[in-house]
Amino acid sequence: MNTLPDKTVERLCKYRRVLYNQLSEGKQHIFSHELASLLHITPVQVRRDIMLIGYSGTLRKGYDIQDLVTLIGEILDTKDGQKAAIIGLGNLGSSILGYFNGKRSKLAITAAFDIDADKTNRVYAGVKCYHIDELEEVIKKENIKMAILTVPAKESLQILDTLIMSGIKGIMNFTPKSLNVPENIYLEEYDMVTSLEKIAYFIKQNSKEG
Ligand code: ATP
Repeated sequence: MNTLPDKTVERLCKYRRVLYNQLSEGKQHIFSHELASLLHITPVQVRRDIMLIGYSGTLRKGYDIQDLVTLIGEILDTKDGQKAAIIGLGNLGSSILGYFNGKRSKLAITAAFDIDADKTNRVYAGVKCYHIDELEEVIKKENIKMAILTVPAKESLQILDTLIMSGIKGIMNFTPKSLNVPENIYLEEYDMVTSLEKIAYFIKQNSKEG
């Protein structure tokens, strides 16, 4: 199968999460319009995505939930799972670490890095925090392919170079500094402060109009 579009992959992750919930409630089949309404999207969108991954349900019962979960898993996951490292164990980094681990069996944060001597060589939420100088060595040795960047913005460029040299192939950038990466590296960026300021602006506008 060719590489799927970004947005389709995002929706597949969401389908799987919703389908898991349905399974845990004892449901075995689901219609495209039910799945669509749980995610506030159109049934046409759901049918198009599911068709794209080569699955079809039956007219009478809809999709078999377990089959669909299995197929989505085969598409999204790797057999042995993937490892991620978190760079910068400040307030945000440690919260992400605490929140994330254990939630996804096929994806785990297995190493953390920081420059602060008070944080290094300690274990947080079951994950060892190494000194940033050890980044390349540990990433290569542990075959970590994903990095979550939660350092101050001014540090991100220098760390990015080391991440690329270490063989990192995907980055989640939580710093407000937008990054430029080579084509073979997948980058997601989330600038939380900008998002909150945007919401605050619309609250202000809407309360003026209301
Ligand atoms: P804290 O007060 O615990 O430092 P914070 O969230 O206010 O938390 P930030 O200044 O945002 O901290 O920095 C985030 C984390 O990144 C901190 O733990 C900091 O020690 C770490 N950090 C800063 N510079 C680097 C660097 N060059 N390499 C790795 N980690 C770094």
